[in-house]
Amino acid sequence: MQACDLLISAGWVLPVAPANVALENHAVAVDDGRIVAVGPTVDLEAAWDARTSLNLPQHILMPGLVNAHGHAAMSLLRGAGEDQPLAQWLNDTIWPLEARVMNPEYVRLGTELTIAEMLLTGTTTFSDMYFYPEVVAEVTLQQGLRAQLAFPLIQFANPWSESVEDALHKGLEMFHQFRHEDRIHIALGPHAPYTLTDEDMERIGMYAAELDIMVQTHLHETAAEVAEALSNHGKSWIRHLSDIGWLSPQLQAVHMTQISAEEMALVAESGTHVVHCPASNLKLASGYCPVTELQAADVCVALGTDGAASNNRLDLFDEARLAALLAKHTQGDAAVGKADHMIRMATLDGARALGIDHLTGSLEVGKAADLITVDTTALGILPVYNPFAALVHGNAGTAVDNVFVNGEALVEDGGLTRMHLGELADRVQAWQSQSA
Ligand SMILES: [Zn+2]
Repeated sequence: MQACDLLISAGWVLPVAPANVALENHAVAVDDGRIVAVGPTVDLEAAWDARTSLNLPQHILMPGLVNAHGHAAMSLLRGAGEDQPLAQWLNDTIWPLEARVMNPEYVRLGTELTIAEMLLTGTTTFSDMYFYPEVVAEVTLQQGLRAQLAFPLIQFANPWSESVEDALHKGLEMFHQFRHEDRIHIALGPHAPYTLTDEDMERIGMYAAELDIMVQTHLHETAAEVAEALSNHGKSWIRHLSDIGWLSPQLQAVHMTQISAEEMALVAESGTHVVHCPASNLKLASGYCPVTELQAADVCVALGTDGAASNNRLDLFDEARLAALLAKHTQGDAAVGKADHMIRMATLDGARALGIDHLTGSLEVGKAADLITVDTTALGILPVYNPFAALVHGNAGTAVDNVFVNGEALVEDGGLTRMHLGELADRVQAWQSQSA
């Protein structure tokens, strides 16, 4: 027998690769943070001598979820601006409020709050676009998750950076600092084409190409944004980004609620990734991303919650359900938005969009042991006919009870291993009464 750190057996194992497969009574062996075997429980128990074993016959074992777009610290602003369309929400509520509270302590506490919620609902990798990314990196490393940190590039001076040039300097320093850290991936985070000058956009594109660094940006979030680009520039932002060479497999275009057939072809041909944030788009009445058409054109579509200020939840299972319902509704076809496709979007396609699918997103030998278990005896899930549908249409986020990143238990029996929830709640309430 071979020694390994951990052997988890479960009633159902969903490896995601290969797609749409639910393996009954299977197990995953983990050693030194990596997956070393996936196979029938009887075989793995005979082959591996595990230091720790978890036997979960009533559970689904699957890859940890990848939340491909968010603004973690904004969980502290959850509920602060409600029932407003995007432009009003940003200009009248969120930006003035952020200007008042923005400092490293706000970012630290908000990121901790977001991480607690994401871990307890099964997210092991998240993408963040926010100020003080060095603080987000520190908290992420302390709490044990994996993250892409898209450092913010915006033409206005802000407490973190005086200018785009200053932000590039700080962010690229982090890019070099974390080059060999497999849990922190630094990306460029240009907020949106409409908050950057043409000169800045060209400079960002140049750095992306030279350094082979991922880029995440909000793109075609609303009809008003597209109309303004057409009247000011005579072309849409997608067309403009194509012209200046931004469309590529390095680009993660978030939202994309407005997209013509011609633009869809540009996105597909260039290998640009799309991040779908259905709750945020619905809540701000921004429209919806044509996921079914994009996937039919072979575009990789990931899922994101966006910030808690426009969601207000950070449960990616919930987002997968909304994505499925929205696809069915907009297509007028109950056969689209299949549950196994939604699970792939929430895992492997998220990892692909972030450029880290060699590391995470599926249960394959050699990948990091980023795993979660979901208790299928939970109300809202029980009984299980199809485990994919149970996850997407049941309330799986509330039934996640074990979470591992790199083989380390971050949630055990439904509880966080590195954070005390009661103490966190006290700090959040104290912050709100003093700062917000
Ligand atoms: Zn966003």
